[in-house]
Amino acid sequence: MVVIHLLCFQTHLFFICDVKGSGDTQHTAKPSVSALEILPTDIGDAVGQTLSNNAKNHLLTKHWKPSESFNFPTRKQGSKVRKFQHRWLSSHPWLAYSKNKQGAFCKWCVLFAKEVDLELGQLVTSPLHEFAKGADYLAEHEKLA
Ligand SMILES: [Zn+2]
Repeated sequence: MVVIHLLCFQTHLFFICDVKGSGDTQHTAKPSVSALEILPTDIGDAVGQTLSNNAKNHLLTKHWKPSESFNFPTRKQGSKVRKFQHRWLSSHPWLAYSKNKQGAFCKWCVLFAKEVDLELGQLVTSPLHEFAKGADYLAEHEKLA
């Protein structure tokens, strides 16, 4: 059974509306996006940042993704060595792995949490690092809606 991450789904709709609404640039004084704008590719770099719609859209659709054979960094937790599980990405479409922060984030919450006044925490302001209980944290985050 698929659990819908409702809050994220709603913010996604907001975002689509926003993009459509700002599409008619000819009649506004809004400056066009510079061709030289450096678009972020790592979701971890967006934490705490104010990004342009262009940058947000780029992060949502073209953020860096680890390949199937990517060697995730390990973390020692207790007496065991743990690491991020690639399958979590396919089972949670809202999840994005940050190479720079060495953990995973909810991409919707990272990009839009300020606008929806969400209670922040792991997966939003800090990456998922508790890999031993990773599946539990992911299920918990989906229930936030
Ligand atoms: Zn979220």
